[in-house]
Amino acid sequence: MIAARGITKQFGDYVALDDVSIEVPDGSLTALLGPSGSGKSTLLRIIAGLETPDAGVVEIHGDDQTRVKPQRREIGFVFQHYAAFKHMTVRDNVAFGMRIRKVDRKRIDARVDELLEIVGLAGYHKRYPNQLSGGQRQRMALARALAVEPRVLLLDEPFGALDAKVRAELREWLRRLHDEVHVTTILVTHDQEEAMSVADHIAVMDHGRIEQVGDPRELYDRPANQFVMGFLGPVS
Ligand code: ADP
Ligand code: MG
Repeated sequence: MIAARGITKQFGDYVALDDVSIEVPDGSLTALLGPSGSGKSTLLRIIAGLETPDAGVVEIHGDDQTRVKPQRREIGFVFQHYAAFKHMTVRDNVAFGMRIRKVDRKRIDARVDELLEIVGLAGYHKRYPNQLSGGQRQRMALARALAVEPRVLLLDEPFGALDAKVRAELREWLRRLHDEVHVTTILVTHDQEEAMSVADHIAVMDHGRIEQVGDPRELYDRPANQFVMGFLGPVS
């Protein structure tokens, strides 16, 4: 389980996170859902160790992560605008994390094959990122994040830059991938439909606070307050 407890973060006088606590069950796909500016990315970056909280702790399986350097946290991260190495093939992009960890060549090749298969890019080894569609590039990013067998996968609006049709496809695909791979995943999104259709647990955020945590059904049937009710809106 990943737990963040009592996380507070200010930027100058602005309180981006106000005493936030959340528990993310092992193997779950948990969404941080909220409007733009509600503090989702800041919370995710703190969990990843890319940002230091003013107060609070992050634990992964009970280990206090503030003592663990970001590169040792066994975390896979995918951003909205994924920074692929443009001069490297798909194969080398996916292999990158394994190479710097000195995994041997044979294992890398086998793992790249397996990952490209999982993300639906079997046979794309020799392509370059600019020869892929936006959706394919994000799937390559997922393969790269999974390559080092992270304990946690953190996704910050990974489909946000894609058009609605591709976004809907990737949403379905992420759900199936998660059912197959079971890696504990936190998905940041401002899209209530995405969160409701993909996640097992949802934390609804507003103004640096978590307003409610529950499964999609609970949130829909019993919203804790006006904000949650209004933000979730009618779901088809
Ligand atoms: P979200 O991902 O939900 O859109 P963010 O976590 O990115 O929200 O940001 C929450 C608030 O904190 C926003 O008002 C944003 O402007 C502010 N903020 C985030 N990062 C910084 C920063 N590095 N410096 C100053 N303000 C920041
Ligand atoms: Mg954000």
